Amino acid sequence: MARIVMKFGGTSVADLDRIRNVAARVAREVKAGHEVAVVVSAMSGVTNQLVKWCGELAPLHDQAEYDTVVATGEQVTIGLTAIALQTQGVQGRSWLGWQVPIRTDAAHGKARVEEIDGAALIAAMAAGQVPVIAGFQGVGPDGRVTTLGRGGSDLSAVAIAAAVKADRCDIYTDVDGIYTTDPRIVPRAKKLDRIAYEEMLELASVGAKVLQTRSVELAMKARVRIQVLSSFADLPGSLVVDEDEIVEQPLVTGVAYSRDEAKVTLRRVPDQPGIAARVFGPLAEANVNVDMIVQNLGADGTTDMTFTLGRADLPRARQVLEENRPSIGYDSLLADPAVAKISIVGIGMRSHAGVAATMFSTLAAKGINIQVISTSEIKTSVLVGAEYTELAVRALHTAYGLDGPEAPPAEGK
Ligand code: ADP
Ligand code: ASP
Ligand code: MG
Repeated sequence: MARIVMKFGGTSVADLDRIRNVAARVAREVKAGHEVAVVVSAMSGVTNQLVKWCGELAPLHDQAEYDTVVATGEQVTIGLTAIALQTQGVQGRSWLGWQVPIRTDAAHGKARVEEIDGAALIAAMAAGQVPVIAGFQGVGPDGRVTTLGRGGSDLSAVAIAAAVKADRCDIYTDVDGIYTTDPRIVPRAKKLDRIAYEEMLELASVGAKVLQTRSVELAMKARVRIQVLSSFADLPGSLVVDEDEIVEQPLVTGVAYSRDEAKVTLRRVPDQPGIAARVFGPLAEANVNVDMIVQNLGADGTTDMTFTLGRADLPRARQVLEENRPSIGYDSLLADPAVAKISIVGIGMRSHAGVAATMFSTLAAKGINIQVISTSEIKTSVLVGAEYTELAVRALHTAYGLDGPEAPPAEGK
């Protein structure tokens, strides 16, 4: 007997037929004698709609109320999944975040999980129940509902797997595993049987949304075994494992893109000590994560400072920067949301020179201009015009020898 956490994403619970399918998969594991806890997302499209409504009422809305709104999608799917389980003879029961409780910090909109007491869930499973837990949500220090950032039910699943000491955390989605890049953009992407935690962490952090970044971070820390697999087909999935469990290590393991970025340039910032702190300090206080940063050398005692941030944070960042304009002293603020970040990731990059150079020459050959570059030990990212996203990803996938045979498009969407 094993203890398994099964997580189903938005497309897997998109309608009643799919919820019945989820229940059948869960019932199969229960009937095989396993203890199962289920985590579900909202029906696909629902969270987007809820987010949109908040933004339409007020671009700079109260983040705590945003959480109250956007957390509702999961309340619907846990109840429906529990009912579907009951119709199949399994004792399903819904659990909201606060009922577990999944305790988080107070950073509404992107709260961090601080503590989960797994005792009640363990007792429920021991009594033959299947807890169906709302992904994406928790409860803050003041008792209010929080959410864990977009895609956060992956994190809910991993955190619960750690809390109940599950043997496995299976992430069911609309592709049958982790690929060398998004198979919806590159039909020749190849499925990876295994990928190292560290590589998956980098890929997720630069936009491969098949797993949410923090879920991988926690899985790595808490030693949770993640498997990504299809909820529509019975196919072997991809395992996220330790680096030494991977036999063949290519130079580049995957290519990722993110269209959720925006570029901000502050023109003519005084070129003097303390300026970066005056720009990035208030942004951090407002919970705005800044990613790539470039600062040009100025000739007249000023410089241009360019950086990227999540596009959803742009209104807030603009407000913060305008409020702090007197202390920073810039001339003007330019915001460009029409950008995309393209990244290559691979542990093999650690020990090989020239990997990034191939990236630059490949993009140059396609006439794609690079606006900003950033690198880490196992990753190189470039910022390009959003219209070049597909072209850049495909060209790099080919350039690093990742293309497989032409495959039919993935199911589900
Ligand atoms: P869910 O709703 O199940 O959480 P998501 O849409 O969040 O599903 O994540 C699955 C999607 O991730 C896939 O449909 C695919 O388009 C995308 N994706 C991006 N990069 C990759 C990758 N490297 N491998 C597999 N899927 C990827
Ligand atoms: N429903 C949430 C979202 O769309 C959480 C998730 O799907 O993981 O972001
Ligand atoms: Mg997801």
